[in-house]
Amino acid sequence: MTTCLAFAAHSSDTPLTPFRFDRRALRADDVAIDIAYCGVCHTDAHQVHNDWNNTVYPCVPGHEIVGHVTAVGSNVSRFKIGDRVAVGCQVDSCLQCAPCAEHQEQLCIHGPTTTYNGRDRQTGEITYGGYSEHIVVREQFVLSVPENLDLQYAAPLLCAGITVWNPMRRYAVGQGSKIAVVGLGGLGHMAVKLAVALGADVTVITTSPNKADDARALGANHVLLSNDAAAMAAAANAFEFIIDTIPSRHNVNPYLMLLGREGVMVLVGAIEPLEPVHGGLLIRNNRTLAGSLIGGIQGIQELLDFCAEKQVLPSCEMIGIEDINGAFERLQRNDVKYRFVIDMATLRDVQA
Ligand code: NAP
Ligand code: ZN
Repeated sequence: MTTCLAFAAHSSDTPLTPFRFDRRALRADDVAIDIAYCGVCHTDAHQVHNDWNNTVYPCVPGHEIVGHVTAVGSNVSRFKIGDRVAVGCQVDSCLQCAPCAEHQEQLCIHGPTTTYNGRDRQTGEITYGGYSEHIVVREQFVLSVPENLDLQYAAPLLCAGITVWNPMRRYAVGQGSKIAVVGLGGLGHMAVKLAVALGADVTVITTSPNKADDARALGANHVLLSNDAAAMAAAANAFEFIIDTIPSRHNVNPYLMLLGREGVMVLVGAIEPLEPVHGGLLIRNNRTLAGSLIGGIQGIQELLDFCAEKQVLPSCEMIGIEDINGAFERLQRNDVKYRFVIDMATLRDVQA
């Protein structure tokens, strides 16, 4: 075991504070990683605030992890000390079931082991995430960061990026696709950049008029204000595909109306009951309302390689670990452009 310094929440309503714990010793198929950067996902805030009533405290969030390999177990073949690597939302799964065999480890029928607030499959211990000095992860769940992808820009791809990339690939978003992105936050801004890189015609649907210029600068072709009833009505039936990243309970009907024939809307943000869905809106136009959970390991590697090749880079606001509580408050206030990334070297300045 190795002592590890981290930032942890000890309850739903207290700030994150420095916390020391023991990382497990390296197993034969493990990779040990020194963490350089960690992205801040809205899920981290949900989990810290116990929004889903399943948080185990102390909770060390962080599932957009990049860094360097410091040690490998005796069975590890794909990595060596010094390699640039990344870890996303999960650190283990059964690797036997049908979804695992089909590279959809996030859908493992025995339950994926999440990077934090999960349970180690061998010891049952709670997993601790990337707001920490280092992490130990089973080789199959470690990604390679291509040489021409700056490490700090790789971090948001591990969750925000893959969560929007996976459904866009599943529903064949590509050249000329007419798509909309609801909510211009961490996930939404990645959806815009990736869809533009795939050749789609992209509309941002936002509650924030002050994000219109940003949306265009990120590559969006059009901006629609969701509270502008006339503009929403004019966009009825306009889209083949919509990705909805709103992080809480909301009414999906105004967005469903915007789907054309056989159109698909994918929900990725709200994990709770929605306001009632109008069946008629789904039935007319053969519309589909779908969901999507992050993505598999192969899909994440494909995304990292795509972003390196096309230089599709997230818009990051770098922070020190001491700024994390302020960053959570800003996330709640919808004030982030467009992903906070923690420079984990700042942990060295912290006493615990
Ligand atoms: P974020 O950076 O806070 O962005 C969310 C955006 O949604 C905001 O910027 C805002 O955009 C819009 N919004 C916020 N509250 C709203 C409301 N009440 N009504 C309408 N729009 C609202 O969050 P994120 O990191 O992108 O995460 C988004 C959600 O996805 C979170 O709930 C997170 O837990 C979830 N998530 C899911 C998966 C998955 O696998 N499915 C993976 C990662 C994250 P505008 O200002 O443009 O309106
Ligand atoms: Zn996330």
